[in-house]
Amino acid sequence: MYTDLKNKVAVITGGSKGIGTAISKRFGQEQMNVVVNYHSDEQGADEAVKLIEEAGGKGIAVQADVGTEEGNQALIDAAVKEFGDLDVWINNAGMENQYETHELPLEEWKKVLDVNLTGVFLGTKAALNYFLAHDKKGNIINMSSVHEQIPWPTFAHYAASKGGVKLFSETVAMEYAARNIRVNSIGPGAINTPINAKKFADPEQLATTTSMVPMQRIGEPSEVAAAAAWLASDESSYVTGITLFVDGGMKLYPSFQGGKG
Ligand code: NAD
Repeated sequence: MYTDLKNKVAVITGGSKGIGTAISKRFGQEQMNVVVNYHSDEQGADEAVKLIEEAGGKGIAVQADVGTEEGNQALIDAAVKEFGDLDVWINNAGMENQYETHELPLEEWKKVLDVNLTGVFLGTKAALNYFLAHDKKGNIINMSSVHEQIPWPTFAHYAASKGGVKLFSETVAMEYAARNIRVNSIGPGAINTPINAKKFADPEQLATTTSMVPMQRIGEPSEVAAAAAWLASDESSYVTGITLFVDGGMKLYPSFQGGKG
């Protein structure tokens, strides 16, 4: 628990499942007020709100497409209307799909970039405007990936979007540091969420992924949520412009394990 988080107001995009729901629950445990954004899964968002309230916080579910300027503004408006303020903005929404690059349809490229990168820009822009207008010590956290650093064949659009998130976050962190606004990213590795459900249901694929993790296990969404709580809290008050990897060591070149190479 981080006592400074109590009663703070957070927006979490893509909160209706996976990592977004885990952060919602964790922020409920921190007794925060949370706007849980969803795109189409209203029931999932309602369940996340229930988890927040059972844990001791307050929550509301708000539909919005993070790929649009109006969508992000609607989330700020909901935070202010329902909870009177905004302190923490989490750009978590994301999507992926798999194509060989020579067959990747432009439409799919655009869809992934719209949510994963343009969504992060638009959410950040909306939050920055609120923080600046209210002279607030703001906090923005972007959900990146180990693939901001590790190339991922057949996921070129996803890797491009997360590489973009890395330099976008670092740039904005530098641009607003003197105005007391912190911007950080989290880089999850392989986490047990619906985005990976099909892959991890196949024992062979699960074993392959696990073998790429020095800690030899898949991560839990709650372990990513713990990083988000720390970055949101004053315990990380001198931290800006980093990517905090939560990946069991995945990006340490595990193929060199045992002195190979
Ligand atoms: P998930 O599929 O379980 O959840 C993604 C959420 O984003 C969903 O709630 C979805 O509805 C929402 N979303 C998609 N498009 C949206 C839009 N236009 N507007 C609003 N919401 C939208 O995935 P997850 O694993 O919980 O992923 C969360 C974030 O973490 C993503 O940015 C993902 O790239 C990143 N990540 C996940 C992993 C992992 O292993 N699970 C690893 C690295 C990075």
